[in-house]
Amino acid sequence: MKTLLMLEDNAERNIMFHAAVQELGDGWQLRIWPDAPTMMAECEEFFADTHLISLDHDLNPQPGVTANPGTGLEVAKFLAGHLPVCPVIIHSSNSDAAWSMHNEFRFAGWKVDRVGPIGEDWVRKLWLPKVLEMVGASQPTALFRKPNDHMVRMQRTLVSLEGLAIADAIGEMLSYRHADAQRIIANGLVAGPWFRTDDSEMAISIVEVLKMYGYIQQDALARRFAWRFERDPERGYGKMTRIQLREIIAGAKWRETAAGAFSGLGSMGNGGAMRVPPLGAYFADNLSLVAEEARLSAEVTHTHPEGVAGTIATAIAAAAASQLRGKPLENHATNLFDAVLQFTPESKVRRGIFLASQTPAAVPIEAVAKALGNGSLVTAPDTVPFAIWCAVHHLDDYVKALAIAISADGDCDTNAAIVGGIVTCFKGREGIPPDWLVQRERLPFPELEK
Ligand SMILES: [Mg+2]
Repeated sequence: MKTLLMLEDNAERNIMFHAAVQELGDGWQLRIWPDAPTMMAECEEFFADTHLISLDHDLNPQPGVTANPGTGLEVAKFLAGHLPVCPVIIHSSNSDAAWSMHNEFRFAGWKVDRVGPIGEDWVRKLWLPKVLEMVGASQPTALFRKPNDHMVRMQRTLVSLEGLAIADAIGEMLSYRHADAQRIIANGLVAGPWFRTDDSEMAISIVEVLKMYGYIQQDALARRFAWRFERDPERGYGKMTRIQLREIIAGAKWRETAAGAFSGLGSMGNGGAMRVPPLGAYFADNLSLVAEEARLSAEVTHTHPEGVAGTIATAIAAAAASQLRGKPLENHATNLFDAVLQFTPESKVRRGIFLASQTPAAVPIEAVAKALGNGSLVTAPDTVPFAIWCAVHHLDDYVKALAIAISADGDCDTNAAIVGGIVTCFKGREGIPPDWLVQRERLPFPELEK
């Protein structure tokens, strides 16, 4: 079914548009939203079949509805955070606002045109020919590849994201307060909301891209990273990431900004790893694919082989933990480390993970951190072996895993985010204390906020 998405609040126009879309013939369906917030919340799931989007600007509240209906410009800014899906028509008579919307789409690479509502029968005489012209000239994009079991994969993915985001927020609150790590176990944390940091923000972008495309579409991921950063920059992003995202916002290509980081060496920071556990959950049934997609997700910002290796190792750990879900824990540490070592390319990261695999669960955490690092250098080799060790040895206890990871100081929010994202793949949402689920900051996925 070819779908036409529309923002339009006027009942008479609605009737005209429905009649006009009938003239397009069978195989077309029209979806109209009368307000911006609802359209933004619901439209993405139709993108794979969308052939045209047509937007009004000025919106009046619907009878009996008190919520602010928003404007077409809000929808334009929202859509500009995505890769172009199809041509867009702006059919608003508010000229200034229509040009602002036009600019949003143009700068984001979307094909866009305007139709002024002029005369009696403008929908049929002006708008409909424009639809035919624009749809006829556009090549349908083969961007979307959601597998048949996409919904099941997304459930796992969102659970991992939730475990990651809560851990990130707690890690940030208790950064360098290892004496307070016991509070986690005693459930003596201050009341929420517990705010997430860059780790969760970037993980959200990965989950958004997987949700929409079913794989890591790198251009879309770069755009989501930049879009989220531009709207909410104070999330504790690392300095190099801030530089890269600002350049992308200013029009630079992610391939160049990522490759150019650190004078052309590429970043070996822990930023690729910190955001990747939900990706491991999504592709959990196929570890080779996990490694491939993890690499794609890293490359958008972290091209140094160590940055990539840390990302792959973390994603494999999450996927392997997902595979163990529901099974009794027997030799799980060996199995998990074996999987990670099998798929992680030769690197300092991999050598650290080998050392971690030889470090028994009973070793005190200070000694573990001394041997493996604790993220205080914010690099992948200094972070990933330690975080994976913490997760592997506390796979059935989310709370204890976080307490242990945070008690070693270092890059606490990132260590915790990685550990939380992995452990939740095994434990599920049930592993997270119910009151923690309530204290966390809201996540932009309606599935999690029901
Ligand atoms: Mg952070």
